[in-house]
Amino acid sequence: MDMPARPRVFSQRAQKLTSSTIREILKITERPEVISFAGGLPSPQGFPIARIRAAFDDVLDARGDTALQYGPTEGYAPLRAWVAEDMRRHGAQVTADEVLIVSGSQQALDMLGKLFIDPGSRVLVEAPSYLGALQSFSLCEPEFVAVPTDGRGLVPEAIDEALAAGARFIYALPNFHNPTGLTLDLARRQALVERCARFGLPIIEDDPYGELRYAGEPLPSLLGLGRAAGATVVRLGTFSKVLAPGLRLGYVVAPRDIIAKLVQIKQATDLHTATVTQMAVHEALRDDFLAEHLPKVRALYRRQCGYMLEAMSEHFPDTARWTRPEGGMFIWVTLAAGIDTGRLLQEAIARNVAFVPGAPFFAGVEPQANTLRLSFVTVPEPRIRAGIAVLGELIRRADAA
Ligand code: PMP
Repeated sequence: MDMPARPRVFSQRAQKLTSSTIREILKITERPEVISFAGGLPSPQGFPIARIRAAFDDVLDARGDTALQYGPTEGYAPLRAWVAEDMRRHGAQVTADEVLIVSGSQQALDMLGKLFIDPGSRVLVEAPSYLGALQSFSLCEPEFVAVPTDGRGLVPEAIDEALAAGARFIYALPNFHNPTGLTLDLARRQALVERCARFGLPIIEDDPYGELRYAGEPLPSLLGLGRAAGATVVRLGTFSKVLAPGLRLGYVVAPRDIIAKLVQIKQATDLHTATVTQMAVHEALRDDFLAEHLPKVRALYRRQCGYMLEAMSEHFPDTARWTRPEGGMFIWVTLAAGIDTGRLLQEAIARNVAFVPGAPFFAGVEPQANTLRLSFVTVPEPRIRAGIAVLGELIRRADAA
């Protein structure tokens, strides 16, 4: 049968789109017998369902008429004020008019692409980097340039005048990186903001996991350090990992001129983020709710991470190296050179275990095909141990091949 002639009417941009590798893998992992370390889903055990239900009830009872009405593009004013206050508590002097509420930080990535990228614009990314950001930016057809990284993350000293020349921004994930799980240390954060200030290179700081620290000491944000150093920092935050992703609620903190442009873009995108959700989340956050809620989520993730690291030490061969995250949801594994984790995945799926091969996370550089990402948060302990044992066996076999 002939294919419909539709592609002739699709834009060139749309024709270039491909499905994310992760989405394809997730289809397979929906089978209940599969032990999946592939998804990046937060644990539903951390969703404060009762609190959110009560918050929606309170908002609808007391202010239903406002909650169900259109609202300002910038977001619900008390929630913007909450974010600004939260930033100040974390050491960055922010005012509410520097905050834009968005429908998940993924929407902010899409809008920032539209704001900064022309076809062919240079965009600096870590290699590897968050796949969802690479996908969003790709729609605007940038030239990705990889910033060198090592076992401690991004190497700021590698950002010189030549690398920064003409670049629109650098996209960085300083805390419990997706996919590597690595955290940028204070000296590197400082060096990064100083270099970006010197070269006039804006920084997009994406920090969905910062509040999920379960080891080590919290570090200042690039926003806080950057403002002190005279760098332009656009910081993305989200309620997806501290409350629940189904709320689709996140925020951008940026200088007012950038917020003003983003407001125009957001207006054209969806007018504003759901009023009732913003009001309910603001209600749910009352009385310092996160101070009581987050320790439970952190403890859960710490335990889960520990099970996986323990099982990896037991079952993985010496040829494998992996990161030891201080927070967040991911462990990044580097296998012996020559092993292709795409092929390993096929073998793993045949044994009902899944992970994400590392290659799709690389842009602007040759992908490292011997890498993979493991997520430990949603799989129960016995299945973590069983799944890691299978992976260990397959890796040993690939080593021997
Ligand atoms: N940035 C990173 C690094 C992420 O891992 C995610 C979620 N997987 C997002 C942004 C998007 O999160 P949300 O849209 O739910 O805020």
